[in-house]
Amino acid sequence: MGKDKRVALVTGAGQGIGRGISLELAKNGFDIVGVDIVFEPGNKQEGLFEVKERVEALGSTFLPLQGDVSSLKDQETILKQVLDRFGRIDVLVNNAGVAPEKRLDVLDTTPESYDRLLSVNARGPFFLTQKIANQMVKQVAKNPGLKPCIVFISSISASVSSPSRAEYCVSKAALSQAARVFADRLSEYGINVYEVRPGIIQTDMTAPVREKYDKLIVQGLVPQKRWGFPEDVGKAVASLAKGDFGYSTGLVIEVSGGMNIRHL
Ligand code: NAD
Repeated sequence: MGKDKRVALVTGAGQGIGRGISLELAKNGFDIVGVDIVFEPGNKQEGLFEVKERVEALGSTFLPLQGDVSSLKDQETILKQVLDRFGRIDVLVNNAGVAPEKRLDVLDTTPESYDRLLSVNARGPFFLTQKIANQMVKQVAKNPGLKPCIVFISSISASVSSPSRAEYCVSKAALSQAARVFADRLSEYGINVYEVRPGIIQTDMTAPVREKYDKLIVQGLVPQKRWGFPEDVGKAVASLAKGDFGYSTGLVIEVSGGMNIRHL
């Protein structure tokens, strides 16, 4: 089992949006490699091993791997483990990301928090993508029928300003440009690259500001007047991974309930 299905690697797969993406990809027939910095094989209630059970119940294989996306050494190990197990990689979803430990005004942002966010949210995915793109290029050379793809989960913060978490916004803007450059460079190989920008999604990342956003959403911040859920993002990613947007490399999709609409 697992040899014939397309293989998708999802970073930050243990919870939240990464979990939602893994489940939607599994529903669409992908085998999943789930990478997370948190790795608790004994825990089937939450985390990677809960996702593994759910994915397997959908009829797909799930390979849980421990790794820190900001570590270049971990990236090498991850790629090796994927190739040892499956011999291929068809889809990369750069989802793992972190918010500032403490929201501080841009006038007080610390260099430590800036470096942490840029390292996990931008530098890590950039070099992981570089490694996996080189592998995908080799696969396409052997089998031109393959249509690998890469998806970057950035954020509306790639273009929207939040002065209380400037380093997050800067990291997501960097990620957005990485998606564009890889889309440009990889187009000649038939490897499509997309950027998905979630809006306000109900996960642990937004748990500390849930009440604040509850109010803002009702007041009209989100035209569709509801929280987004991980499966909203997962469905968009699955559609891209399946090839529904095959002639649209470099596409940026907002999954934000209409926050992209400017209105008076
Ligand atoms: P989350 O905190 O619920 O989950 C993130 C997952 O990534 C966790 O399982 C965590 O252990 C893992 N992770 C963190 N650092 C890692 C690292 N260095 N290496 C490997 N794994 C790591 O967050 P989420 O809300 O699911 O966010 C997922 C992505 O979506 C992030 O990139 C985030 O910036 C982006 N995003 C989230 C929202 C939102 O409203 N929740 C909005 C826009 C964008």
